[in-house]
Amino acid sequence: MKQYLSVLCLSVILIFPTRAQQVDAPTIAITNITVIDGTGSAQQPNMTLVIKNEIISDLFPTGQKTLPGESKILDMSGHFVLPGLIDAHVHLTKNPDPEKRLKALLASGTTTVRDMGGDARTLSVLARDAKLGTIQTPNIYYSAVLFGASFLQDPRTRFAARGLKPGEAPWMRVVTGHTDLPQIIAEAKGTGATGIKLYSAIEPGLLKQITNEAHRQGLKVWSHATIFPSKPSDAVSAGADVLSHSGGLYPEAFSGLPSGFNEAITEWMPKQDFSTDPGDAPYDSLYHLMANNGTILEPTFSAGESPRVDTGQAGQSQHLAEAARNIDMSARRAWTIGATREAYEAGVTIAAGTDSDGSVPVQSEIETLVEHGVSPLDAIKAATLNNARAIGIEETHGSLEVGKRADFVLLSGDPLQDINFLRNIILVAKDGVLYPQNASVSNEVGQDSGNEREVDKKELLRLNEELARSQIVDRDSAFIEQVALDDFRVLAPGGLIENKSQVIAGLSAWDATDVQLTGTEVLFYGDIALVMGRMDIDGIMKPVGRWGPLKYMSTWVREGEEWRLLLRSLTPCKEILLKMGRC
Ligand SMILES: [Zn+2]
Repeated sequence: MKQYLSVLCLSVILIFPTRAQQVDAPTIAITNITVIDGTGSAQQPNMTLVIKNEIISDLFPTGQKTLPGESKILDMSGHFVLPGLIDAHVHLTKNPDPEKRLKALLASGTTTVRDMGGDARTLSVLARDAKLGTIQTPNIYYSAVLFGASFLQDPRTRFAARGLKPGEAPWMRVVTGHTDLPQIIAEAKGTGATGIKLYSAIEPGLLKQITNEAHRQGLKVWSHATIFPSKPSDAVSAGADVLSHSGGLYPEAFSGLPSGFNEAITEWMPKQDFSTDPGDAPYDSLYHLMANNGTILEPTFSAGESPRVDTGQAGQSQHLAEAARNIDMSARRAWTIGATREAYEAGVTIAAGTDSDGSVPVQSEIETLVEHGVSPLDAIKAATLNNARAIGIEETHGSLEVGKRADFVLLSGDPLQDINFLRNIILVAKDGVLYPQNASVSNEVGQDSGNEREVDKKELLRLNEELARSQIVDRDSAFIEQVALDDFRVLAPGGLIENKSQVIAGLSAWDATDVQLTGTEVLFYGDIALVMGRMDIDGIMKPVGRWGPLKYMSTWVREGEEWRLLLRSLTPCKEILLKMGRC
């Protein structure tokens, strides 16, 4: 028999489960962290946050209580924890690949979104998958949009209802004085929507009736700040829960408003110079009315900032882009900022939403709030507890309190000192599932990172180690007798060794007790992965007889959720190769 086997090529089928199922999740305690709880209260240093079965089961100063014996403890001293961020205004179905976008959004720290208008058929599927945890995504809540007949000229109403008669989809519907409100609101609720969005061409009287009926059926009412021809104060008086777009408060000071949104943006708005003072009388009374009624204001500073994506729905928002060219957008933005600050100072609850397709992080809204005089604690509250209130989930989400869902983010620095730390997210948790966002936290957590490549890499390293042990150390009998007999192909200098029994005898004679893997590299080519490195047997660095370092390369192919080994080759590291640094 040869002194050593030059190259072993094994073709082995090994199937291991890749994604552990969480059956009864272990208790996780994150210790020594500074808590910013989302309620606007001062930060609390040196706290311990305990998670059990998707819920925050305890929160207390570190050391004050003993942790359950089986707890997994993650010491995260120096880090800051706050509730998972909520984006109160997205349009997910605008994006051609919402799943990919949602995954990135979760990784950026957003654990919940409110969709403010889109195809409810798509949204309901995404929301279901979010609940089941079959895709990595924030929780999804969405709206059903109601508008007067003239708004049907807006192409968005047709795109979101394709396949149905425009204006008759339960989530994108025309409403008039003759509409059977209890019926259409029940149908809107049947789409799985959490709220009714009011958009355009609804008179104040009808506004009130819709709001009453929606509330009676347990739905929220989310309104454009101005539903032309109604004024913002009409929506507030009618009982709307949230008004979107601070810039849309501007018409409050005017009478004889256009009859609908499209007339407003094409004819009325271009004539406006936004020179009214957002602190003047009509606005001031509006803010006080909102504060007294508990109406939430969602400014949407980032509106219009989503990059243009090809949705295959050309022209869907073309009219908005054209209208924007005729409106003084920088004056409007300045007015938006001024009105938001005035409203905040008058005690109005501020929410935070980007009005994007999910590509603008809600951090951008928080940063703008801070830049314009909102305290960092209040700006964080806007994107957490206030947004949870806007959606109606404040009993279970939006703050770090015992009994609430374990949705939170861990930051590497203090966002109250520098709000930009909100973008430095090292861990996201949603429903108690941890998604580490960098390698060191991934190690600490001992769990897959949210990054799929990281997940694959960890899994391949584990399989690779298992394979090395079963070959070299355990000399697993199943491996040698069955797999080797069936699947060994042995190459030696000069060609193929046909005599398998020789090889098997050689393998059986090995009496290694330890194998260490070093210099492991994983390369991906689509669904094929190459794993390479060196095996040091029994710590002997020099090749002695058959023993010593071996170079290996294994080829794996992904089949569904599993990685299957295609081929493994071993090459002894000869002294000359070691000297040359090639092993
Ligand atoms: Zn919007």
